Amino acid sequence: MWTGDAYLEQLYRQAGEWREQHSESAAQRKEQLLHSLKDSLGEFERSSQIHSVVLEEKACEGYTRTRVELSVIPGLSFGAYILKPAGARGKLPGVIAVHGHGYGSRQICGMLADGTEDTGKPDIYNHFAVQLVRNGMLVIAPDVIGFGERRMEADVAEDPNAPSSCYRMSTQLLMLGKTLTGLRVNEMLGTLDYFSGLEQVDPGRIGIVGFSGGSLIAYVAAALDERIRSSVLIGFPNTFKDSIMAVHHCICNFMPGILMHAELPELMGLLAPRPLFLESGDRDPIFPAAGFEKAVRELKSIYERENAGDQLTCDLFPGAHEVSGRVSFDWLMRTLA
Ligand SMILES: [Zn+2]
Repeated sequence: MWTGDAYLEQLYRQAGEWREQHSESAAQRKEQLLHSLKDSLGEFERSSQIHSVVLEEKACEGYTRTRVELSVIPGLSFGAYILKPAGARGKLPGVIAVHGHGYGSRQICGMLADGTEDTGKPDIYNHFAVQLVRNGMLVIAPDVIGFGERRMEADVAEDPNAPSSCYRMSTQLLMLGKTLTGLRVNEMLGTLDYFSGLEQVDPGRIGIVGFSGGSLIAYVAAALDERIRSSVLIGFPNTFKDSIMAVHHCICNFMPGILMHAELPELMGLLAPRPLFLESGDRDPIFPAAGFEKAVRELKSIYERENAGDQLTCDLFPGAHEVSGRVSFDWLMRTLA
């Protein structure tokens, strides 16, 4: 009997061979790949004028936390937290902090889902937006569509504890030739427009940090927009083959046709020669260490080819699918200094 396992393995191998046969010079290939990545996301209209309202401001330990509402795509609005180091003067390096699956931006800003302070032991997100502001960076943490407050009404009606609206949103967008990653990335780029225009942000020193699904949004946003000078990708860098194709992953990870253009390391290589930090837990069960190491090797050769070997750093820390930041957050501050 011929099984689907062998057949899909064969298709994966053939996609790799097809890419080899159609490879041009590295520079041409990079330009073509950027177009292909854009195409696979689908098209989204962004507003020419960003709508923003300040909702609340709170003094926290070492920083102030402002909640704003933004609209960057006609017909959609969302909340975001801006964390500013207490007593900071002049222009600061800015960081976009992108969460993945969970209850939204509150989860990375040291709060529980209901907005009260999370005084217990931090979860896998390790309150990373708070760690970044305490390192001296101005942080914006937008609510990613499909999670927490931004789940669809039908999902919440069906189950008030529904973890996300990824399935409903992804499937409907796919029918329209669009992807949920495309929608999320476009909102992130609109957030970047807003953030880089803030008086206290130095628009020449903006970085991005994403964890897990947030890292997917972060690398695609950085690939499409060079205003993002420095990127930290956590709990995500890997090969497609070893992560989203090997272990059960949310549908929001999948981009139509992408394997005909590149495997994941080469897509992340679109960020070269800009500073890039790859971080992963050595016991991460859904983005396994072996795939992380393969991705690091391939990215090293891409960065070296662009004479930027010193701009790529990695940390395989002892841990599971979680944020560490033990090396990466100081590194980010240095690269944006
Ligand atoms: Zn998802």
